Amino acid sequence: MRIRGSRVAVVGGSIAGCATAVALARAGCEVTVLERSRGGLRDRGAGITLPASLYGELLDAGYLDSGMRVLERPELIWLTRAERSAEGRVVGRQPYPSIMASWALVWRGLRGQVPDRDYHEGAVVTGVRQQDDGVGLWINDRPAGTYDAVVGADGYRSTVRPVVAPEAAVRYAGYAVWRGDYPADRGADGPQSPLLDDFVAVGFHGGHAVFYRIPDAGTGGFRQNWALYGSVPDDLYPAGAAPVPRGRVTETTATYLDELITRELPPVWAEAVRRTERHELSINPMYDTTVSRYTKGALLLAGDAGAIARPHTGAGAVKAIQDACSLERACQEHKTWAEALAAFDTARCGAGNTLTELGKHLGRMRIADSPDWSTLTPADFDAWLHANTHGWRSAYDPT
Ligand SMILES: Cc1cc2nc3c(=O)[nH]c(=O)nc-3n(C[C@H](O)[C@H](O)[C@H](O)COP(=O)(O)OP(=O)(O)OC[C@H]3O[C@@H](n4cnc5c(N)ncnc54)[C@H](O)[C@@H]3O)c2cc1C
Repeated sequence: MRIRGSRVAVVGGSIAGCATAVALARAGCEVTVLERSRGGLRDRGAGITLPASLYGELLDAGYLDSGMRVLERPELIWLTRAERSAEGRVVGRQPYPSIMASWALVWRGLRGQVPDRDYHEGAVVTGVRQQDDGVGLWINDRPAGTYDAVVGADGYRSTVRPVVAPEAAVRYAGYAVWRGDYPADRGADGPQSPLLDDFVAVGFHGGHAVFYRIPDAGTGGFRQNWALYGSVPDDLYPAGAAPVPRGRVTETTATYLDELITRELPPVWAEAVRRTERHELSINPMYDTTVSRYTKGALLLAGDAGAIARPHTGAGAVKAIQDACSLERACQEHKTWAEALAAFDTARCGAGNTLTELGKHLGRMRIADSPDWSTLTPADFDAWLHANTHGWRSAYDPT
């Protein structure tokens, strides 16, 4: 089956879905994007960091818009709580050139490259079947035709993944990331630090919190964005270890977070979290998934529908866009789906699984076996940082 002129459905219209739709349209395919949610995803995201080393590549490939507002930071400054210092003690500086971006702006840039007539909201793909004449899809439990190829870009609980890699399991890693963001000028009368403008991680026993500013997708100003990694008591999840989206965090859960930050963070950073209003909070459990293959027949996986890597790797959105770049390259270099998908599988399956393993390793170093921050010397910090990345050749967490 030739690629040019074929009909392809993309399940999921977030970062991976829009990016692969762009890749496939460039390869001459007729693309249909099927997105479960309605009303646009634009208002639901917060901050993402992109490794500066990959940013230029994604701009050159046309997947990121050179006009998109971003902030650039050269290093990640690690702090910990200290007596008599509202800001905390700087333990060390990790060279980590990063681009701070708004999830909404990245998504909007990609979504803008997909014609509205090809993007269908409220389309829940409920069934996927390989057939002799292509891939059959069911939308909202009704047969919805056959496609020459189908992309599973439907995120961590993918409907397409079990058809491609039935053995792949989504495993809860035992901790979560609490997230929040708000206009950066909120609370200007509270405790201040020049470091609030930097890329900062605050280490504590059993976790750490990361702070950075991002462009505000709505106002042209900036937002204070933070993410705190640590364990969450099971009884605070309303439905098992499942995400708690914005607007659903209960008062009891918010009180638990307040006690945690009061105990573990220096006052400046505790206050930076406390300024977040309850409806701006969310919790995302950490999951790991490796997959045996990225393609099967005329099906392929992209983004979090493939391997899932914890956010310590800084890989989520970039990995999804790299999957799209790789698909575009495979479609340019080969004429048939069989050849292109074999090349895509070789390029992306190993890369995805390696990132999953890197995420587990970083989770061990930073959460399960976190150092004793209170006594950490600069030499200890250097040794710890080296152990974080030693043996891992990844552009996502260079040290
Ligand atoms: C609304 C939203 C906000 C996010 N905000 C951030 C953020 O601020 N920072 C960050 O680092 N990461 C964020 N992420 C996650 C980040 O986008 C992903 O981890 C990464 O970019 C990979 O993207 P993805 O497209 O593979 O998966 P996802 O972004 O999870 O997208 C999967 C998409 O598939 C759709 N879908 C799922 N099942 C079906 C189905 N059966 N039929 C049709 N559609 C389906 C979902 O509605 C979703 O839009 C966010 C994701 C979403 C959906």
